Amino acid sequence: VQTVYSFGGNADHSDPRQKDKIVTGGKGANLAEMASIGLPVPPGFTITTEESVRYLNEGADFSDTLRADVAKALEHIEQTVGKSFGSKDDPLLVSVRSGARVSMPGMMDTVLNLGLNDETVGGLATTSGDARFAWDSYRRFIQMYSDVVLGIDHGLFEEALEIAKEDNGFYADTDMSAEDWQSLVAQYKTTVEEELGKPFPQDVQEQLWGAIAAVFDSWDADRAKTYRRLNDIPADWGTAVNVQAMVFGNMGDTSATGVAFTRDPSTGEKAYYGEWLVNAQGEDVVAGIRTPQYLTQRRREAAGASAPSMEEAMPEAFAELAETFDLLERHYRDMQDIEFTVERGKLWMLQTRSGKRTANAALKMAVDMEGEGLIDRKEAILRVDPMALDQLLHPTLDPDATRDVVTKGLPASPGAASGKIVLDADTAEQWAQLGERVILVRVETSPEDIHGMHAAKGILTARGGMTSHAAVVARGMGRPCVSGASAVSIDREARTLRIGSREMKEGDTLTLDGATGEVMAGVVVTIEPELAGDFGVLMEWADAERRMGVRTNAETPADCRMARQFGAEGIGLCRTEHMFFDAGRIRSVRQMILAEDEAGRQGALDALLPEQRADFAAIFKEMSGLPCTIRLLDPPLHEFLPTQDADFADLADATGLGVDHLKRRAAELHEFNPMLGHRGCRLGITYPEIYAMQSRAIFEAACDVAAESGEAPVPEIMVPLVATRRELAILKEQIDTVAEAVFGEKGRRIDYLVGTMIELPRAALMANEIAHEARFFSFGTNDLTQTTLGVSRDDAARFLAPYVERGIFARDPFVSLDIEGVGQLVRMGVERGRQTRADLKLGICGEHGGDPASIAFCEEVGLDYVSASPYRVPIARLAAAQAAL
Ligand code: ADP
Ligand code: MG
Ligand code: MG
Repeated sequence: VQTVYSFGGNADHSDPRQKDKIVTGGKGANLAEMASIGLPVPPGFTITTEESVRYLNEGADFSDTLRADVAKALEHIEQTVGKSFGSKDDPLLVSVRSGARVSMPGMMDTVLNLGLNDETVGGLATTSGDARFAWDSYRRFIQMYSDVVLGIDHGLFEEALEIAKEDNGFYADTDMSAEDWQSLVAQYKTTVEEELGKPFPQDVQEQLWGAIAAVFDSWDADRAKTYRRLNDIPADWGTAVNVQAMVFGNMGDTSATGVAFTRDPSTGEKAYYGEWLVNAQGEDVVAGIRTPQYLTQRRREAAGASAPSMEEAMPEAFAELAETFDLLERHYRDMQDIEFTVERGKLWMLQTRSGKRTANAALKMAVDMEGEGLIDRKEAILRVDPMALDQLLHPTLDPDATRDVVTKGLPASPGAASGKIVLDADTAEQWAQLGERVILVRVETSPEDIHGMHAAKGILTARGGMTSHAAVVARGMGRPCVSGASAVSIDREARTLRIGSREMKEGDTLTLDGATGEVMAGVVVTIEPELAGDFGVLMEWADAERRMGVRTNAETPADCRMARQFGAEGIGLCRTEHMFFDAGRIRSVRQMILAEDEAGRQGALDALLPEQRADFAAIFKEMSGLPCTIRLLDPPLHEFLPTQDADFADLADATGLGVDHLKRRAAELHEFNPMLGHRGCRLGITYPEIYAMQSRAIFEAACDVAAESGEAPVPEIMVPLVATRRELAILKEQIDTVAEAVFGEKGRRIDYLVGTMIELPRAALMANEIAHEARFFSFGTNDLTQTTLGVSRDDAARFLAPYVERGIFARDPFVSLDIEGVGQLVRMGVERGRQTRADLKLGICGEHGGDPASIAFCEEVGLDYVSASPYRVPIARLAAAQAAL
């Protein structure tokens, strides 16, 4: 196989390997592609990624084949441009550029102007007729080569340049004359000799091979390794090396260099976008030494800048560039990110690749390009990263508004919100009922804070990571959340807080940006998301392609309404315990739990029944006619137990039982490992009245709504934490009995299904048995992950991050399904369940239902639907469509 591929001039670009990024890297493949479609690309060659792997494996040694092939390819450049490498009369200069499969910061920087030495610099001065340019190029080369290849601190050179300018009274590099540069070169060479103990290499072959080796070696440099680890890039890819004839943007005022996008990468608008600099080279544009100028006249005018745009200053080169933009977009059928140079009026293309873009821009470009006929609908659907939609669905901060940032925490849940600080959940609820917008600020949150989190527009916590309770619940609810803001300290007695050095009190206003983690004092204007327009169009296309249904996890009418706006086709998980935590109810719930006997329990349940019925009726109305999966009470009773003295006193009043007695009872119910304790269907089996009450509330509400609206909901009653067929059989019989009783009382029947969650490994193993009793399965992958991995989600924070960092888990298994492991149980559950009951309805309701990679897996195993929190519904719709394509 070929080790080196030439491009440009009369090179043969027909070997498909040359345009394969795997072989020639992203830069090399695209340079060959551009050259082969006739664009002006300076000639050069690419050494394959395979050679870098070989070099590193063989102890940093170049093969003879490679040396011979490089020599030949270099000749091709010489012939094409009519100069020769190392010639003191008319020297060829080259750049040496690294180029892995994907663009990788952390790799070696490019070396420009290679081939200059004390002799060739004279030749360059003569042929260009510009001594200043020649010496400027030489000093750039020494500086870059010394830094990148020889490992000498570039600060030494920058310092010398600053001193030289100061001594001459100059401000800008452009003030330096040929002689000034020449004397700086002498200084640079002395510096190199001092640092290295030997002179700067004058042999151009030594320079070339030194640079090639540096590119190869940079693959194994620490910063490249770190980048690879963080971005899941395998170590065996290697990097290509591109050696290319130099073209010069620093040959005076008819020369320039620039970078451009064929469309606006932040808005997606179909308008060229870019920056350029006259009389400059390479990285000058991005380096920030000089302020770059706008590419187009329109942009320059909009910005009120005085330095001319390229469109105005170099109309001919600009026109050619614009034509090239259009040609490249048509060729690659995507927005391109381009690097170019103009040498004495002549345009040269140095790089092109598909450009990075914001979520907004990705959406607009996908829809626009379909309209332009550049791509078809399927391609448009595939062009948008579902996760990027997350940014689009939430309010964002007005980028032009001023921000008084007081601290920064973790960006735990996206979106932005302003409101008055409240320090506990009850206050949050009370103030919200009075119409205030509130931000709940807590050290950390617990299940007892749910109602306050619901009432708040945003949540700020001093402790906790990205998978803390606050973060998980906030993401589920679509509330912006900043967690782990350690500069926040709260004085609950005084109702004040300190953020860094700032003193604040309850009622002061605060703004959170859950996308960045920024916490700001006062109100910052937010912008509401746009759900119609391009977003609506793309979603419609996605819906037409997907096979799986998309439901939502919701337990309040407001969330249901939101989810329907986002396109939910039903409820996949309604967690009834969330209704139990509501302010007015928790007392009855506690009364029920702490009751001595069935009679006491029944009394409390009787009080809860009308409330639950009203909850379900409201939800059924919002979801008119759509399927609603309602999970019966699941969490360990432990979680509802009072902890504060005030709560015990309150309960004692309500029940007439003594505080001591209640405390003893609570102590009895204490569990060491509630996650594996008295919860789920185990509650239903031991306290049948609880599920009986809940079933009754569901059926009564369903009958009432059917009578009222004529549109009967389809309740799917879901029994949690089932491990055995018998558990479900007992509970199903009880639910059916309640149903018959209610239908008799109401004089009407409605359709309903009884099913179960598959969230214990045993349930997946026994799915064929369990399916005899279940009309549907919903994979509860949160618990299934916990129980399969033997990892408690609440305690995982301490080791999960290091586990992911060290590659023990590719991703957090609570965020993205462990397909290899837990996935096997899901697959088994699907297969065994369907063996027993071919029309078994199958869904997923863990957090994974909103994760694109997990959704792709759900499509593969043939689930009927996925269920995600309301804000994740559009993500799921798009991901399900992509999975189906
Ligand atoms: P990166 O991958 O960091 O963008 P490049 O290899 O693209 O590095 O090089 C950076 C810049 O150097 C280019 O944008 C271009 O301005 C300049 N450059 C590279 N090769 C040449 C060349 N042959 N002639 C002129 N300028 C070049
Ligand atoms: Mg580049
Ligand atoms: Mg569960």
